[in-house]
Order: sequence, then structure tokens, then C-alpha cells
Amino acid sequence: MSVGIYISVPFCKQKCSFCNFVSGVFSRQKMRNYVEKVADDVRDSRQLAESLGARWQRDADSVYLGGGTPTTLAPEQIAQMFAAVRSEFQISDDAEITVECAPGTLSDEMLEALLRCGVNRVSFGVQSFVDQESHAVGRTHTRESVLADIARLRDAGISNLSIDLIAGLPHQTRESWEESLAQAIATAVPHVSVYILEVDEDSRLGRELVAGGARYHAHHVPDEDLCAELYSTACERLNVAGIRQYEISNFAQSGCESRHNLKYWTRRPYIGFGLDAHSMLPAGPQESNNTAAVAAMRFSTTDDLEAYIAPNAASAIHESHCVSRAEALEEELFLGLRLNRGVDVSEIEAQTGLQLTAEQSHGIEELLAEGLLNRCGSRIVLSERGRLLSNEVFSRFIADKDAAAV
Ligand code: SF4
Repeated sequence: MSVGIYISVPFCKQKCSFCNFVSGVFSRQKMRNYVEKVADDVRDSRQLAESLGARWQRDADSVYLGGGTPTTLAPEQIAQMFAAVRSEFQISDDAEITVECAPGTLSDEMLEALLRCGVNRVSFGVQSFVDQESHAVGRTHTRESVLADIARLRDAGISNLSIDLIAGLPHQTRESWEESLAQAIATAVPHVSVYILEVDEDSRLGRELVAGGARYHAHHVPDEDLCAELYSTACERLNVAGIRQYEISNFAQSGCESRHNLKYWTRRPYIGFGLDAHSMLPAGPQESNNTAAVAAMRFSTTDDLEAYIAPNAASAIHESHCVSRAEALEEELFLGLRLNRGVDVSEIEAQTGLQLTAEQSHGIEELLAEGLLNRCGSRIVLSERGRLLSNEVFSRFIADKDAAAV
């Protein structure tokens, strides 16, 4: 089975007020050190994976540069990371190779570099096509500059494009949201992601909302009910336009679903490099023989940039965990339920060789009774309301409550 490769690039030109990712503005020197370290980690990946008890795989069919804003790097730095990846992994000819891009950061030189590296998919962090809304959260692009970037990419031969939108930005109204959706549909991009603004302590805007303040335009953020309504409107408009929902936050024309992200939800192997990068690989022969209970290995890197690039840092790995078969079954449930096709309980039981626990079966029955899940034969899927309350749904029948929020 081919692996998916993720590279985290945690650099941005400025920090958006809503952003809770591990990303920020750093010096050119730190960016250079970072790229060197990522390239070294890629070259050492087999040894590292095997030392953690995982089975490293050379064949890859997806590469994803995310962040952060990968296009803030110099073109030659992007090329340097791709060179390392191609020296260690066998990238299939039909691989999906995605780069996340903030509109307005795509120079001609960068576009040429992406093409030379084999990039065939670009994901744009648009968030809103209404300039007042995107500017209120610190974005510098305009509707016109996004449309110009999309046209340039298509002219260059990259038509597999995705747009991110956020429901719940300051100043957003039903009307302005309809405008953003209509514009996203009019661009005819084959993939759209729609997220609801996260209100938590991990972003400046989130903290301000929690504190009830007015900085960062917090007092112009739509309330929770309106955010839920905007999300439902997005589901309707995009589905009607043939950009069908296939995951809680993701919509695509048929055949244009993100191959890379599907690996996360279907528990296919992936390996991550750089800051706060996560990996899941099958357990290696030793782990598998030791105990039939070990199904896979998960490991992740530190989210501290200084620690990551420190000279002579012992290892980039921050945490590693043996996934037991019982945990694999849980993961199949709560990750698979994110998908509109849901999960087939009988298939999961056959695959893991385990039965659902009494608590899990009971939890599912309760959720069915409350209308948060629907059932068809042995397949269960989130209902429309269940999608809005997904984290609550997952936590009801999963032992590790933190894992449900992945
Ligand atoms: S560009 Fe993306 S990663 Fe960077 S601060 Fe904005 S939302 Fe966060």
C-alpha cells in the first residue's frame, strides 16, 4: 500500500487573527535551517521509522506541503525539499502532489518551481471572497487577486484546485456568505473546504471571543446559531452545484476528492516531516510478532520550532504510540464517520478481528435514537445534525476523548 507524505511548512507572511495552527513569521535564517532539517529528516526517515517499530514504505502516491504557507519559502527551498523526498521515496507517476498557498504569494518563479517539482494540485486559503471579511482577519488578498491566481494556475496547467472558506468570520452575514459561495462555485474549482470558525484559546480572535472583547473585530463575529446556518447553506449550495460533500468539511466534484486527506480518514499509511507533523505507519515485523495486539504505530514531531532546528537535537520525534487493535477499531469508527459514506461496522469488526464493545454498541444505539446517526444495514453515517455536533458524537463512544477531536 502506498504511503502519503506530508511536509509541514510553518511560515507565514503575517499571522491571521483566527489561526490556531503551528505557524508564524520567522527570519530567513530560521527558514533556511528548517528546510535543511526537513531534508535531513526525510533522508533519515527509514531508519527512524524502523527504530520506532514501524514499517517504512518507499512507494508514495501523494505528497502534501501544508502549513503555514509553503509558498513563503524561496523557490529553491521548495525544490530542495522535493529533491530529498524524491531521493528517498518512489513517487508514482499519477501521484497527487499538493501545495497549500495563500493567495497573492505565488510569484512567477515560485509557480515555475512548483511545476518543475511535479506539483499538480494547489489548495488556496481564501476564507472569504468578500474583501472586508478577509482583511478583517489579516489577509491581504482581494477577490480579484484570488481569481487572477486561479487563472494563472490554470494557464500553467494546474486545474486541480481547492478553495478553503470559513463560516463565522467577522462581518459575515447570510448575504455575504451567499456571495462567497456563489463566487467559489463560479470559479468552477473542483474542491472546496468549509470550516466553521473555531473559538478557542489557540488564536487571537478566539481568545478575544472567549473573553468577550472587541479586538480583532470580535464583536462582528456571527453567533453560533448563524455559523451553523451558514455551514448548512454551504452544504446545500455546493451539493446542488455538483461539488458534493464527502467529509464533514470537504466537498468535491466526483473523482476530485483529496487523495491525501482521505488517507487520514481511512487509516491508510502516511508519514509527516517538519514541525508538529504526524505519522501513522503499519507496525513493523517485530512489533507484529511480539503481540498481535499492535496494529500500527503513530508518532509525531515537536511543535517547538527552536527545538526542532536546534543543532544536535537528539530526534525530531516528540511522541510515539503503539496502536492496539482495540484502538484501531475506535479510530476506524471516529475517523470513518467523518466521511459521508460512514462506516460499515461488520467490515470493521472483520478487519480488526474484534467486536464493538458493549459501550460502543450502546453509544451507537443512543446516537441513532437521538437522530445524530443514521443506519442502513450494518453501515452507520452521521446525520445532518450529527455533522454539526460531530465531536460530541465521537466522544460518546470513544474511550480517549482527546482523540475524538483529531
Ligand atoms: S496563512 Fe494560513 S497558516 Fe498562516 S496564519 Fe493565516 S491561516 Fe494560519
